[in-house]
Amino acid sequence: MDLISYGRQHIDEDDVQAVVNCLRSSALTQGPLVSQFEQAVADYVGARYAVAVSSGTAGLHLAALAAGVGPANALLTSPITFVATANAALYAGGAPIFADVDADTVNISLAAIEAKLAKHPEIRVISPVHFSGLPCDMVAIKRIADGAGAVIVEDAAHALGSRYADGSAVGNCKYSLMTVFSFHPVKSITTGEGGLITTNDEQTYRKLLRLRSHGINKEADTYLLPENAQTDGVPNPWYYEMQELGFHYRITDIQCALGLSQLKKLDAFVARRRALVKRYDATFAGSHLIRPAQTAGRDHSAHHLYPVRINFAAAGTTRAVFMGELRRRGVITQVHYIPVTMQPFYQRLGCVSADYSQVNAYYAEALSLPLYVDLTDAQQDSVIALLLELLG
Ligand SMILES: *Cc1c(COP(=O)(O)O)cnc(C)c1O
Repeated sequence: MDLISYGRQHIDEDDVQAVVNCLRSSALTQGPLVSQFEQAVADYVGARYAVAVSSGTAGLHLAALAAGVGPANALLTSPITFVATANAALYAGGAPIFADVDADTVNISLAAIEAKLAKHPEIRVISPVHFSGLPCDMVAIKRIADGAGAVIVEDAAHALGSRYADGSAVGNCKYSLMTVFSFHPVKSITTGEGGLITTNDEQTYRKLLRLRSHGINKEADTYLLPENAQTDGVPNPWYYEMQELGFHYRITDIQCALGLSQLKKLDAFVARRRALVKRYDATFAGSHLIRPAQTAGRDHSAHHLYPVRINFAAAGTTRAVFMGELRRRGVITQVHYIPVTMQPFYQRLGCVSADYSQVNAYYAEALSLPLYVDLTDAQQDSVIALLLELLG
């Protein structure tokens, strides 16, 4: 039996060839493909700079540091995200703070952002998550952030290929200081593991380059100790400087070979996802048991997921039984996400689940249905038939 999962990568023969070509070249890492990939993504989204890193999580960590998150301040985000968004604040020594979501988009609520900013003047960074690729209202969030002196780091792990309401590409950083992408196999395009940060700010770009590689930026930094960089006026060819404490978060050329090849297909990937979404939507229209979780603003989404809300009680079942039955019949679904505020670690930090009523209402009914480029119409039809059968 062919298992149908909630998400997976699409790999063509030319992706395989691109990786093989890299393996046969002289550089497996720190060669030319990393900057080629960075330039290609920067061009695609329309940002000035891009820094590719080993994962989306590494990107969020470096972005938090470059945005100035530290012991004296906090980062505000949504509980409906992967834990990495909030963890990045803690990695940087700051505090994660959460705001409730809107029922119609499952994105962070503008009113909740304003309420949290009023209560927590220490919030330095707002990290909106474009959930499932549906872009947050960045015009409004930027206005609120500017008014509070906060900076914005977008978690766009779901949103490569998404567009803002003005039609421009998510990641162009016209509303934020930085935008972070992930290239995990379930995301829009993959590098195996990998991530990337875009920015239009040169100082931020240079800092990200340093932090990615041990605090050493061989290309773009002026020396702090220029006298050590030369001997009697002749440059010391071996010289480099560690200027601050960084990490080893580099990505490899092998991964960027795959990324470059995948990026060429991004628009086709998004188009296929959109077609599948339309078919699901048409089937569930008018159902009182199952409906798309996001009802507003999805036209500009890259459709990373197809999250629905199911009234399990009215269908005479529970989510656990329902998912188990789907799994038994070859269909793997998932829940995106267990609210971060509900995790034992975050409960120990003082998070109170009851504070987030829309998060809780969504989580009680949430299920992500299979959505990926290789899902055929026939497979989708069988998923739909199975769902309708189990829902009676
Ligand atoms: C996938 C994901 C991340 C982390 O990306 P990795 O590449 O897996 O480290 C962060 N935030 C969100 C919303 C994600 O979906």
